[in-house]
Amino acid sequence: MFDSLSVKLDRAIKTLKGQGKISEINVASTIKEIRRALVEADVNYKVAKEVTDGIKEKALGRDVLIAVSPGQLLTKIVHEELTSLMGGSQADINITGDPAVILISGLQGSGKTTFTGKLANRLKKQGRQVLLVACDIYRPAAIDQLKVLGEQVGVEVYAEPENKNALQIAQNGIAQAKKTGKKIVIVDTAGRLAVDDQMMAEIEGLKKSLKPTETLFVVDSMTGQDAVNTAKTFNERLNFDGVVLTKLDGDTRGGAALSIRAVVDKPIKFISTGEKMDAIDLFHPDRMAQRILGMGDVVSLVEKAQEAFDQQEADRINKKIRKNQFGFDDFLSQIDQIKKMGNIKDLMGMIPGMGKALKDVDVDDDSFKPIEAIIKSMTPKERENPDLINGSRRQRIAKGSGTSVQEVNNLMKQFEQMRKMMKTMNKMGGAKAALGNMM
Ligand code: GDP
Repeated sequence: MFDSLSVKLDRAIKTLKGQGKISEINVASTIKEIRRALVEADVNYKVAKEVTDGIKEKALGRDVLIAVSPGQLLTKIVHEELTSLMGGSQADINITGDPAVILISGLQGSGKTTFTGKLANRLKKQGRQVLLVACDIYRPAAIDQLKVLGEQVGVEVYAEPENKNALQIAQNGIAQAKKTGKKIVIVDTAGRLAVDDQMMAEIEGLKKSLKPTETLFVVDSMTGQDAVNTAKTFNERLNFDGVVLTKLDGDTRGGAALSIRAVVDKPIKFISTGEKMDAIDLFHPDRMAQRILGMGDVVSLVEKAQEAFDQQEADRINKKIRKNQFGFDDFLSQIDQIKKMGNIKDLMGMIPGMGKALKDVDVDDDSFKPIEAIIKSMTPKERENPDLINGSRRQRIAKGSGTSVQEVNNLMKQFEQMRKMMKTMNKMGGAKAALGNMM
């Protein structure tokens, strides 16, 4: 996320020379570099100028304490300014009402339907009763797409494929929710490839009649300045309550995330970071600013770990470790737990300093594929008792998994080291504590 912006800001801050006080002279070129980095990340020029003016004003004349370098002080100031640029604090959605109605708007392809599924999934996991309503009357495929997503996350979808009146469908959907005790209705609407008047009139009409508790505008962060302009147009007509930024897992430069709040004065409420149904997060301006500055985001990492963490499975594995019975099946199960937490590279980026180090490295779910293939080519007995795996078995496993004997050897070596460490931990009686720290 925002890799190149992070690198450029880091470089800019490092150009700050001098000790003691930050002065007009020594900070000028650094501020210019920061502004350039923001503009190159597709941040609106006016916004970039306002931010850097703010940074300069805060930095000037500040005494630099002996404990921190001028660069560290400036990093702190930049962090504060970026946080306030993105809205300061996290903003929640309003789901009070009987039922609460959430209206989803945005252009076609922005990720509206995918987000609708994710939001339903998230609310359901929080124990809420949700009904999805398919109001994209122009694309039959969109109704099917929503139905598939609804089924995937276990949330009912209300649709009337033959009806061409979006308002009527939405009203019928809300009536259905009341009848069946659903407390939240999420209405997915039709988008167009570009802003057009008919679409605007339709969504405006839906908002006026349905009086939703929350109107969200979904926008593709990869579209940079266009995202900001579209947000402006939608906001003028709809006066929406919040923004959803999608596709932040892609190669986005960051401009949309940084400028939208300043331009439309509406908070970003959610971010979407992948095609999987759990790739949705609340938007925390301070954490995002930390990640942009390569300061990591350990809080989000821990939250994700807790979400994916399966206590029963952890207890089971712990028991096996204590009995020195940790086998390859357990290893596979641990890999699954890590994968459940989301995009690996994004996760790594949450560890301070790691994002920068991994900038050019390709780490994703696929990185585990050869390991999984090797383990799956072992017999159940071999997985349980890895000591059985001799030279000829290694050759067979390599063939079966489409890998080389060397790859199998490497995995065996790593696994052996892991088991040795576990044994040592057992002897010290600290397995539980150590594993707890690993999670
Ligand atoms: P809609 O036309 O606005 O309803 O957009 P869709 O929900 O159909 O999404 C358009 C495409 O973007 C689909 O291929 C989605 O799988 C993909 N997509 C949606 N959200 C994300 C995201 O956060 N990250 C990535 N990488 N792809 C996404």
